[in-house]
Amino acid sequence: MDHFHLRDGELYAEDVPLARIADEVGTPVYVYSRATFERHARVFREGLAGVGPAHFAFAVKANPNLAVLRVMQREGFGADVVSGGELARALAAGMAPGDIVFSGVGKQARELIQGLDAGIGQFNIESEEEGEELSAIAAARGLRAPSALRVNPDIDAGTHDKISTGKADNKFGVPIGRAAEIYARLSALPGLEMRGLATHIGSQLSDLAPLERAFEKLGALIAALRAAGLTVSHADLGGGLGVPYRQGDVMPSPAEYGAMVARVTRGWDVTLMFEPGRVIAGNAGVLLTRVVRVKQGVHDPFVIVDAAMNDLARPALYGAWHDFEAVRPSNRRMTANIVGPICETGDTFAMGRDIEGVEPGDLAIFRTAGAYGATMASSYNSRGFVAEVMVDGDKFAVVADRILPEAIAGAERVPDWLD
Ligand SMILES: *Cc1c(COP(=O)(O)O)cnc(C)c1O
Repeated sequence: MDHFHLRDGELYAEDVPLARIADEVGTPVYVYSRATFERHARVFREGLAGVGPAHFAFAVKANPNLAVLRVMQREGFGADVVSGGELARALAAGMAPGDIVFSGVGKQARELIQGLDAGIGQFNIESEEEGEELSAIAAARGLRAPSALRVNPDIDAGTHDKISTGKADNKFGVPIGRAAEIYARLSALPGLEMRGLATHIGSQLSDLAPLERAFEKLGALIAALRAAGLTVSHADLGGGLGVPYRQGDVMPSPAEYGAMVARVTRGWDVTLMFEPGRVIAGNAGVLLTRVVRVKQGVHDPFVIVDAAMNDLARPALYGAWHDFEAVRPSNRRMTANIVGPICETGDTFAMGRDIEGVEPGDLAIFRTAGAYGATMASSYNSRGFVAEVMVDGDKFAVVADRILPEAIAGAERVPDWLD
């Protein structure tokens, strides 16, 4: 459930008409609903109330906006970060270092040091080599890095290939067949305090079965490690729950997920950790855009909007669907191709889509743009970086300025030797 709804014939975010935001901030602009973030955070937590001790770390990469992170911090969430930049954001948003988990296959030495210096709660080590490097860096500072080993369970999550992370040939984690041996080796290193296992098999999962199989494998591994005399006090089950992008999509609810987790992890005797991203942020944001022009096509007309693939990359990257709705519905329908202004055919949001009739100048939204939206923006075609707004009841604030093309060009230099 979200707080973007029709009231008196026009779309609102909570108690703010989207048209007002467009007038004051311009388009395209991402609009987030604080109440929706809070609601999703609570529903997720409540769904997992039955699993015993648990730690919740919002996957920052889904939406790293500082205001969003602050909302999550106030909801008692920590952060799952995948770069030094995200770590700095989580800290800047007020997250306690101990509530931060650092994932990612390519952490560089300076990022490991940054995490150690900050005193983060857990490093999710993705390879034996990374574990050795982290141990050496920590030991040289007289520290032991609290760590979990990320395991690749070789499970097909049944989602888009580009967001599957738990198959044997994906780059993430260590192969489950070698995990016990690697865990034992890392446990003996002076700079690591191995405290558990982590897994994350992919994103936008519409079926709990692959998650369940991955968790079962993790449970068996925990038992094997303990039988070998090793310590396991934490199990990080990652994120991945899907969200409905299209009216009628049915996704597992946090309550169903929580019931499955409780069943599979019974008797594990660990603190469970969760890294939800999309399920919290996805439907808490929309991309507000204005129709530039409606152009005749050979088949359907092209509705050209002022948002493009540089603002919302998911359709171009994954062929993803985002519902498109007029801010002031016209009560007539049209079939159209919805495209942005960028000079690539990939800059297409929808082909042959049945939508409300729109005309040049009309406002519209792409729904479910709160996760993996603004954070994937680029300045391709020398377009600026899209602005972001957060609504709270009847007020709103710009939480990320639009970065104009001039500012981006201003960071570039022509060397003297080209004069
Ligand atoms: C991306 C990611 C997540 C979040 O995934 P969602 O599908 O957005 O819930 C969690 N953990 C790790 C390690 C990730 O890379």
